[in-house]
Amino acid sequence: MKPFVLKETNWKTVKDQKFELAVLPWGATEAHNYHLPYATDDIMVQKIAEESAQSAWDKGAKVIVLPSIPFGVNTGQLDIRLNINLNPSTQFAILNDIIDVLNRHEIYKFMIMNGHGGNDFKQIIRELGFRYPKMFICSCNWFQSFKGSDFFENSGDHADEMETSIMLHVAPELVLPLSEAGNGDCKKFKIKAFREKWAWTERKWTRITRDTGIGDPSKATPEKGEKCFHEIVNKVSKLMIELSDADINDMYE
Ligand SMILES: [Zn+2]
Repeated sequence: MKPFVLKETNWKTVKDQKFELAVLPWGATEAHNYHLPYATDDIMVQKIAEESAQSAWDKGAKVIVLPSIPFGVNTGQLDIRLNINLNPSTQFAILNDIIDVLNRHEIYKFMIMNGHGGNDFKQIIRELGFRYPKMFICSCNWFQSFKGSDFFENSGDHADEMETSIMLHVAPELVLPLSEAGNGDCKKFKIKAFREKWAWTERKWTRITRDTGIGDPSKATPEKGEKCFHEIVNKVSKLMIELSDADINDMYE
């Protein structure tokens, strides 16, 4: 029973506990090449949030991890069997309701821990910040907290060497043998500006990849996953501590 994980703790503990920062892990339910489970993003973001909160809590941070949201924005993948799409407007409604509760209970710092590339909370945070002026609302993408080439040989976007390695570390029982995986080959945009990423449009997933993966997972190992996982937890726990200690009326220097 961890006092910083809401789904495990109880009212006896929570009713008198002061929390500074609430963290909401947000995943997705989608195919991850042939070898990783649909819940890959959700499993990873929960593990990272809880492990980071453990380390932050041990150093005095008053953080509470909320139950994760298992569905993400998958509008470009609706032709992939049982990929579950949650529209951005639904995400707005969910966040509005959660923030309303936090605001009532005077937990004014809130971080969305995002684990899925299709989720993008910036504009939602702008609008909710405007609606709840007492709240400090932020998000982080754990998958951008480190340099992939420090840990992995092959880069990728989805069900790649990085995700496969981390899953082999945190939930190996849910990973099929790598011999079952596709090679994660993907097509690129013909138009240069999209390849350079200064112009953007959504990718039609099944037109760019055959196995739903983007990035070759064949060199994944649990050892690489463990190293990277610890680096991520290090970074995220520091962020949680800094947010817990921060004065939200004095954020700039
Ligand atoms: Zn993923």
